[in-house]
Amino acid sequence: MGLFGTNGVRGIANDYITPELAVDIAKSLGTYLNNSGKVIIGRDTRISGNMLKHAAISGALSSGLSVIDVDMVPTPSIQYYIRNYKADAGIIITASHNPREYNGIKLIDGDGTEFSREGEQKVENTYYTKQYVSAGWENTGNLQSDYNVNDHYVHGIIESIDAEKIRNQNFKVVVDTGCGAGSLTLPFLLRKLGCEVITINAQIDGTFPWRNPEPTPGVLKELSEIIRLSRADIGVAQDGDADRAVFIDENGNFVDEEVLLSLMAKNILSQRKGPVVTPVSSSQRMADIAKEAGVELIWTAVGSINVARKMMETNAVFGGEGNGGLIFPEHQYCRDGAMSCAKLLEIMASGASLSWLAEGVPVYYNSKTKVPCKNLEHTMECIKNKVHEDYTGVQIDTIDGVKVWFDDGWVLVRPSGTEPIIRIFAESKTMSRAESLMKDGVGWVKDCK
Ligand code: MG
Repeated sequence: MGLFGTNGVRGIANDYITPELAVDIAKSLGTYLNNSGKVIIGRDTRISGNMLKHAAISGALSSGLSVIDVDMVPTPSIQYYIRNYKADAGIIITASHNPREYNGIKLIDGDGTEFSREGEQKVENTYYTKQYVSAGWENTGNLQSDYNVNDHYVHGIIESIDAEKIRNQNFKVVVDTGCGAGSLTLPFLLRKLGCEVITINAQIDGTFPWRNPEPTPGVLKELSEIIRLSRADIGVAQDGDADRAVFIDENGNFVDEEVLLSLMAKNILSQRKGPVVTPVSSSQRMADIAKEAGVELIWTAVGSINVARKMMETNAVFGGEGNGGLIFPEHQYCRDGAMSCAKLLEIMASGASLSWLAEGVPVYYNSKTKVPCKNLEHTMECIKNKVHEDYTGVQIDTIDGVKVWFDDGWVLVRPSGTEPIIRIFAESKTMSRAESLMKDGVGWVKDCK
């Protein structure tokens, strides 16, 4: 089994994610960097974070790297620092949206983007073969700290948007950072943007006492209620490491993340034309919006690193995933929750409410399910052949799984990266058609497995 999943190494802290693992991964990274260079190390608010951060620092120093410890930071904040500082790499101790008992280790490239799959593979090989190269005693690394990283990040966002336009509106915003790393940046950013800020769960607490770090509609009921009672303009909630943000409109209604992605694309394209990038799992809404704006839409494999790299390659004006992970190239090439919030306020500052913006994107219905499957590779190969035989003259994408486009909707059949299951997603203009497309997808899996 691979060490790195879609978002780094994850597991239960002090069980699978141990100090020994953190030391060894840091030493593998040091070996990958030829035992020299500068690495930035930080963590989210999880209570096991300090233990793992110190272990990672120790491993990096042992392999001869210089380390800057930035301690508690949102993931996009450390990414911004790594890029601007021209470091060689970064290590962030985070399990993003996973429950409190989890933690994880994520590697960042010197340009601030997530580590490439090839880079991870090399680090992983060193880790499994234990072929670390340690530095001689005279070359063990130097440790410094910098605790101004979050201020630097907030300042960077303000520089990337029309702050004055937002300040003129005196927005009222209710913020739920879920006791995660966003508590250190988002409320401060919003106050600097002239907003009246009401916070809930904005105290740092790695036990996440009130809600799970995953900002789903079910755990954001209080946020909705406070928006209505306080007559706020919007509500914003973040996941544990604050690279994602989700929003609730002025009526207390959760804005679906696919709708958020589309409304952002639509409004950015009204100001600036250029390619937009999104994974194959995203909504048809993105295709409609790109077509209307007369720009190219580029579909990628699932995973924010694929979106970010493709955006860099094509000089895209915007990109993102349908889970609240949005990427704004004017700031940096990574998912950025606080930047999403600032950008949304900038769009709203033209006089639009969030509910109105959400109503402005095309309506689609989705259906999804999963089917257990032991032989993922064989089954996917069979499905690929089957749909090519059964549907001639129909567009079929195999960038990631198998996606079949019909005139009135699409089906995507994708193997899970972590479990023996195949996921089926479908979308159409009506719910009944979305459901029947989803059933077609289930049928292909059953015929093939
Ligand atoms: Mg996250």
